[in-house]
Amino acid sequence: MATERTLSIIKPDATRRNLTGKINAKFEEAGLRIVAQKRIRLSVDQAQQFYAVHKERPFFGELTEFMASGPVVVQVLEGEGAVQKNRQVMGATNPKDAAPGTIRAEFAESVGENSVHGSDAPETAREEIAFFFSGLEIVG
Ligand code: ATP
Ligand code: MG
Repeated sequence: MATERTLSIIKPDATRRNLTGKINAKFEEAGLRIVAQKRIRLSVDQAQQFYAVHKERPFFGELTEFMASGPVVVQVLEGEGAVQKNRQVMGATNPKDAAPGTIRAEFAESVGENSVHGSDAPETAREEIAFFFSGLEIVG
C-alpha cells in the first residue's frame, strides 16, 4: 500500500480535556507520523465551510457550533494507507459502536462530541489538507 496523507482534527471536547498528547500517542503507536500540526479556533463560518458536505443533515447546526466552541488541533498524518489506518485508530462515529482501544472508544463523549475527525478517502484528504495547510507547512 502506498504512503498517503490524511487530515485529522482533534475536536474541542478533546482539547478541553487536555487529551491532545494521549490522542497523538495513539496515532504514533499505529505508525502514523504527524507531519503538520497547529492549534486554531474555527469560526462558525469556517466550520460550515469545512463540513459543507453535511449541510442538509439534521445535526449540521449542532456540529458546526460545536466545532467552533473551542480550540481544535488540525494535523496532517502520513503513513502506509494513512486514510484507512487513521479511520481504524479513530473507531466508529458513535463511541458506543467503537472498537475497544480506539480513540473514540476511550475518549469520545457522544456521537457528536467524538474527539476526532479524519478524512474518509484520499481525494477528500487532499481537499481537507489544502483547506488548512500550505505545502510549506507540511514536513514529512
Ligand atoms: P468525521 O467526519 O468527523 O471524521 P465520521 O466520518 O465518523 O466523522 P460523519 O458521518 O462524517 O462521521 O459525521 C461527521 C460528524 O458529524 C461526526 O464526527 C459527528 O461529530 C457529527 N455527527 C454525525 N452523526 C451525528 C448525529 N447523529 N448527531 C450529532 N452529531 C453527529
Ligand atoms: Mg466524515
